[in-house]
Amino acid sequence: MTDLSHLPPLRDVIAKHDLGAKKAFGQHFLLDLNVTRRIVREAGDFIGVAVVEVGPGPGGLTRALVESPAREVVAVERDRRFAAALEELVQASAGRLRLVEADALQVDAAELVAEPRAVVSNLPYNVGTPLLLGWLKHIDRYRFLALMFQKEVADRIVARPRTPAYGRLAVMCQWLAECRTLFDLPARAFTPPPKVDSAVIRLSPRTRPADDPDFATMESLVAAAFGQRRKMLRASLKSLLGTPEPLLLSVGIQPTWRAEEVDVAGFVALAKAWKQGSHPSAPS
Ligand code: SAM
Repeated sequence: MTDLSHLPPLRDVIAKHDLGAKKAFGQHFLLDLNVTRRIVREAGDFIGVAVVEVGPGPGGLTRALVESPAREVVAVERDRRFAAALEELVQASAGRLRLVEADALQVDAAELVAEPRAVVSNLPYNVGTPLLLGWLKHIDRYRFLALMFQKEVADRIVARPRTPAYGRLAVMCQWLAECRTLFDLPARAFTPPPKVDSAVIRLSPRTRPADDPDFATMESLVAAAFGQRRKMLRASLKSLLGTPEPLLLSVGIQPTWRAEEVDVAGFVALAKAWKQGSHPSAPS
């Protein structure tokens, strides 16, 4: 295990390099290494895994990743102020930590490191969901994702049917991955504290059957169903499916149900029937 005990406390690193948090970059730092080590401990098995970390900031989570048995860590940071602050950590990592100065939204994480790979991040709130959707699209490229979200977003990822938080995000995430809340963190755990609490979610890819629908088909179906979530499916799916009743009934879904009453398996069955069927609006 890499010994980082000689590194200065993160507060000193921040003071030395004058790293005041920038709101525009969603900067809320974890300065307690007990917390960052807990994230890494609970995230999964890092032996031989290459990790992409989005937004190392002053490096609290990065330190815990460098201490782990991960094969290598590639940290993608948009704010160039952190490069100098992370230099000591790069030196101490004996070649296992690399920094990439880039906007994570413009980078394909899977191209940065070879397999097996994982993504671990205390995500900047403003880009957390689009980043997750990008990784989800190719989830089989990753061993797992361990990600810190605002609690409200985390709750939407793991939500069950017939609850207000259940929607597009829950269906798409739970269809492709096993999703589990590792633990919650109160706002006061961060510096500066955000307005809301957070939670760490672990997503690990499911094995998918050969006849599983493709991402775009599921996405358009789920978007239409939840786009008008108060409406019955026979109305909300009209623009997409024309006359949705026969297709809904063919997979055991009542046209009078609302989207939140359909579980993930129901949406998958519906997408499959739509894709395979001779329905006039079937996707090509
Ligand atoms: N990992 C650090 C920690 O836990 O203390 C910092 C987490 S902070 C919530 C989010 C980090 O992501 C910041 O360092 C911020 O500069 C960086 N960031 C924000 N937007 C980004 C983007 N589009 N691409 C890469 N990094 C980004």
